[in-house]
Amino acid sequence: MILRFECECGNEVGFHLMGDRDEHGRYWLDVEDDDRLAVLSGEGGSLLKCAFCGTVYRLQTTD
Ligand SMILES: [Zn+2]
Repeated sequence: MILRFECECGNEVGFHLMGDRDEHGRYWLDVEDDDRLAVLSGEGGSLLKCAFCGTVYRLQTTD
């Protein structure tokens, strides 16, 4: 497990390595259970949406 996400409602979802790397040697992260958390693309970053309570978290990129 590389990352662990915990929503304020208590929904916990882990991110695992998918195994394959991309052409730059970077690992892909895979959501443990996409019925509990959706990873979406938003303006200038990624969005994490909890499937339990519907809360959306915005993850901003730094570059
Ligand atoms: Zn939640």
